[in-house]
Amino acid sequence: MAVQRQGEKGWAETAGPVFIGSEIYRRSSYGGAHPLRVPRVSTVIDLARALGWLGPGRYRTSPRAKPAALTLWHSPDYIAALQAAEAAGAVSAAVRDRHGLGTVSNPVFPQMFRRPATSAGGVMLAAELLRHGGVAYVPGGGTHHGLPDRANGFCYLNDPVLGMLALRRLGVGRIAYVDIDAHHCDGVEQAFAGDAETLLISVHEERRWPFTGALEEDGGGNCFNLPVPRGFNDSEMRAALEGLILPRVSAFRPDAVVLQCGADAVEEDPLSRLALSNNAHRAVVAALRDLAPRFLVLGGGGYNPWSVGRCWAGVWATLAGEELPEWLPAEAETVLRGLGWHRRRAPEEAWFTTLADPPREGPVRPEIRQRLAALAAR
Ligand SMILES: [Zn+2]
Repeated sequence: MAVQRQGEKGWAETAGPVFIGSEIYRRSSYGGAHPLRVPRVSTVIDLARALGWLGPGRYRTSPRAKPAALTLWHSPDYIAALQAAEAAGAVSAAVRDRHGLGTVSNPVFPQMFRRPATSAGGVMLAAELLRHGGVAYVPGGGTHHGLPDRANGFCYLNDPVLGMLALRRLGVGRIAYVDIDAHHCDGVEQAFAGDAETLLISVHEERRWPFTGALEEDGGGNCFNLPVPRGFNDSEMRAALEGLILPRVSAFRPDAVVLQCGADAVEEDPLSRLALSNNAHRAVVAALRDLAPRFLVLGGGGYNPWSVGRCWAGVWATLAGEELPEWLPAEAETVLRGLGWHRRRAPEEAWFTTLADPPREGPVRPEIRQRLAALAAR
């Protein structure tokens, strides 16, 4: 692999690492009691700035994707319905039924087109920047449940799919997509199942919505799904990394790696029962970084504002080659102390003063070893 990378020299200088963000995430919310009412990307930007990790040339403002660009995967009717819903601030029962808009999961809110179109625009910009190689981070991206003709699971658009199709259109052939969100990437799998030029690997909690991604579900051969039980720990993620993710991605020899880095598998997340520390996320990022000349890292789920902000700021540090401080400087601590949460759980002091969690190692359970062996035998 080292020889291959030498042959593509210049990629490291070509793009990045570049952080693509937007202020739209600070000013918009899904509203009400929705899990995504919490600030996430704005926290990551504020922490990275406070730590001096967004120097000149490292930050790019995400453009908003044009409606026509979104039809690279989504149906024109759906994109028109999404824009119309934002303009009207309401949807009809017919639109709700057909396109999944105006539901509890995917509510009508004032930026319901502009916000996801900004995430999609950021990921599509990243694809362009990575044309000749590099590293790009779009923490507002990662909406892996979006479907061609409907909103699904808090996702209005599917920016991972749009980004991968944009890479493909730019001539990037082989793409490895890795997803460590607590939920299965049903939308991405629907887009790329059976595509021999795409490798798809997902590690997700078993028996959890959307209930797809069974061990046996191979998408026609290119999809590797590892459902994991409650309490999934750092040692078990390392086993998945070394026993599934790294060997498969290396053997695939991808031109680009896309990582969906959802933070909802971290123990303190309210929407899953997995038990990772954020060290697991940084370990996956670091291990994948050099497996292809292009590396695109996206956000995803994550519903505890402190654990998302700390996890994703640490991901950026890993990509940008920055050291995590043991104790946060005062400006960064102020960012974390300024967050609120509608849930009753009181934040822990370490959520204000540190970025790295204590490691959460444990036994690698037999069912995980068995599932990894079954996938390795394919
Ligand atoms: Zn998730």
